[in-house]
Parts: sequence; structure tokens; C-alpha cells
Amino acid sequence: MAEPMAAHVELGGEKEITLGVMGGGQLGRMFVHAAQRMGFFTAVLDPDAHSPAGRVSHHHIHTAYTDPDGLARLAQVAQAITTEFENVPAPALAELARSRPVAPAAACVAIAQDRAAEKAHFVRCGVPCAPYAVIETADQLAVVPANLLPGILKTTRMGYDGKGQARVRTHDELVQAWSAMQMVPCVLEKMLPLQLECSVIVARGADGTCVNLPLQRNLHRDGILAVTEVYAGNVPEALAQRAIAAARSIAQGLDYVGVLCVEFFVLDEADPAAQGLGGLVVNEMAPRPHNSGHYSMDACDLSQFDLQVRTLANLPLVQPRQHSPAIMLNLLGDLWPADGVPPWAQVLALPGTHLHLYGKLKASKGRKMGHLNITGSSIEAVRSTALHAAQILGIAAF
Ligand code: ATP
Ligand code: MG
Repeated sequence: MAEPMAAHVELGGEKEITLGVMGGGQLGRMFVHAAQRMGFFTAVLDPDAHSPAGRVSHHHIHTAYTDPDGLARLAQVAQAITTEFENVPAPALAELARSRPVAPAAACVAIAQDRAAEKAHFVRCGVPCAPYAVIETADQLAVVPANLLPGILKTTRMGYDGKGQARVRTHDELVQAWSAMQMVPCVLEKMLPLQLECSVIVARGADGTCVNLPLQRNLHRDGILAVTEVYAGNVPEALAQRAIAAARSIAQGLDYVGVLCVEFFVLDEADPAAQGLGGLVVNEMAPRPHNSGHYSMDACDLSQFDLQVRTLANLPLVQPRQHSPAIMLNLLGDLWPADGVPPWAQVLALPGTHLHLYGKLKASKGRKMGHLNITGSSIEAVRSTALHAAQILGIAAF
């Protein structure tokens, strides 16, 4: 990889300093906003001419992620390059890294793209994950241990928001599900009794400095994140500390540079299926900012996107401080009436609401259109406002 960007970037000087991002979705858009606020210029590579990030960036290169000309143009205009979604082909990042600092590195993104490689990394770091088996051949399918059932069959690559997954109770159902997935490489994970889900975002610099946001407690509905709650005591403190330590060691073990989100399951230990797993297991990681970290934009003195800018530009990393308890509600396209938009004015009339919309012109079911952060002086006040906002928007109570 090219050397990290000079630590003394002359922000505010005569020269334009441009940060590049592979991918033009909402995560790229919020990165661009954070970068621009600090005086950087930005460049987005995304094939979609109307991508949310491309529309607000100084430079927008619309080519495929693997297009050699597009990559060359990005490397020419941007002094350092990051990514906003994990399915950017790792070879494209490797190509960019020949001439520019790229964070996270292609090798780290490649591991996060592959559930089997990812789990092997967790095991290497001594962090337990759900018991699993890799299924790439009919022979491996035939010898899957019975104690992994009931389980969840997940494609090794390209899964997100619960896509590419099937829940199976018996070996017969497993055989059918794998066949329905065209026998692509998969992992079968034991179905665990979840008490709750949580995630930790860490940011690690090229010099090994590592900081983290507080632990996020997450509620998923239909495989998609619906609500994130972040306040002291959202999970028992000892558990939060274990998850934070695990996330840091996962980043460290990758010699990671950038923002990394690690998702965890907290298990219901009264259930026999949780036996021997120690109450906390890692689910997966995302080599980028994460939906569950969006509250940090309004509730912390550094957001996950500020951290991403700092890691990329080799600027100092300091431990972020959360200054307000927070709840984030995801705003999916489902909330949009057929002939209009949700009643924003009613929501914005509630104190402590922060509306973020991603500039997507078409709402559809399950599409992430924006999020609403709620902050306040106490978690009781935040919760009461969040429930009120949810009711106005048609989000089920939580
Ligand atoms: P993401 O949008 O987070 O990338 P994904 O498609 O990669 O989602 P996972 O995070 O693997 O999918 O799983 C989606 C959800 O399914 C989890 O958040 C959890 O609620 C449930 N789930 C996944 N694996 C298990 C398991 N082994 N046991 C119980 N529930 C599980
Ligand atoms: Mg997930």
C-alpha cells in the first residue's frame, strides 16, 4: 500500500486536498459532508449518476467500480481513498492502493466480504462466534453436524439486510435451501437464542491508535436495522466492556486502518442452545461506518464519519464522547405514503429530533431513505420522544 497521507495535511492552504470514496450511497454522502465541513474536496466513484453521495460531491466519476479508467481518474483527483460499502471489489481497492493510500486496505475488505474468512479471523482473535460449518461441496453438506440445526444458511458473499439467508430446521430443509441458493458457497450457523443485538464502532489510525464509540443496542425487524439505542446502561457494563475489547482486538488483528463496525449477539443463557458460548458472540463486521452508528452525528462530539475522515487523512484520533443519550429510528421507504411524504413537520415539532434524509427520490419497501436521531437530557425523555415520533411515522413501538 502507498504510504499513509502526510500527517501535516495543509488544510486551509492554497492546494485543494481531495478525499475519495468508492460508492455513492448514504454512507458515502455522510462521509462527504463530514469531509467537506473540514475543508476537504471530495470525489465519489459510483456508476449511478444520481447516487446520494455523487450529488453532493465536488467530483463524481460514474463508472463501474472495476473500470480501469474510472479508477485511474479517482486516483488522479483524490489524495487518499476510502470505501462506503463492503462489496466494492477488493481488486479495485488494491489497484487504487498502488498509487494512493487506501483505508481500509483491500485485504481487510476482502475478509469482511467473505463470511467464512471473517469467522476464521474472529476465531484467530479469540472472539467466539456462532458455531458454524462451511458448505462449499456436497460432501461438506452431507457431514454437517446435527447440533448446528436448527440453523441459518447464509451465502458466504454478498449478503446484506438479511438477504441471501434461509432458516432451516432439518437436514432435508438444509439440502433444499442450499439447492435453492444454486449451491453457491455458504456457511450454516447454529440458530442462537438472542437476548439482544448490539454493535461497536472502532476507528483505528495508521499509527495503531484505536478509539471507539459507545456500545449500540440494536433492534432489527425483517433482517433490517430498525432502532438503535445508545445510553449508559443499555446493556450491563461488563458486557459492554467485553464487546468493546473484542471489537478492538478484531481491528488490531487486521492491522486495520479506518472505521470498523462489529456486530454482536447477546445470548439468553437460560436456553440450552447458548451453552458454552459465554453469553456474547460476534456476528459479523462491516469495514466502514454503519447504520447503527448514525446517532453519533448528533449525540457525540465526533461522529463515525468524522472518525472516517480522520483515519483517512491521518489526522489525530481522540476518544469520542457521547454528550446525550440517543435513539435512532431508521426511515425505510415503507413509511412513505403512495402520494406524498411522511409528516415531517409533526416530527420536527418534537424537541431533540434531528432529521437526516439521503436525497433518494424514490421510496420503496425496505429502502433506507433516511434516519431520525433523537437526543435529550435523559434516556426517559429521549425514549418518550422517540416513541411519539415512531407513532407519528407509523413505526411499530419498541
Ligand atoms: P446486515 O444488514 O447486518 O449486513 P446480514 O444480511 O449480513 O445483515 P446477518 O447480520 O448475518 O445478516 O443476520 C441478520 C439478522 O438475522 C441478525 O441481525 C439477527 O437478528 C439474525 N441472525 C443472524 N444470524 C443468527 C443466528 N446465528 N442466530 C440467531 N439469529 C441470527
Ligand atoms: Mg448484520
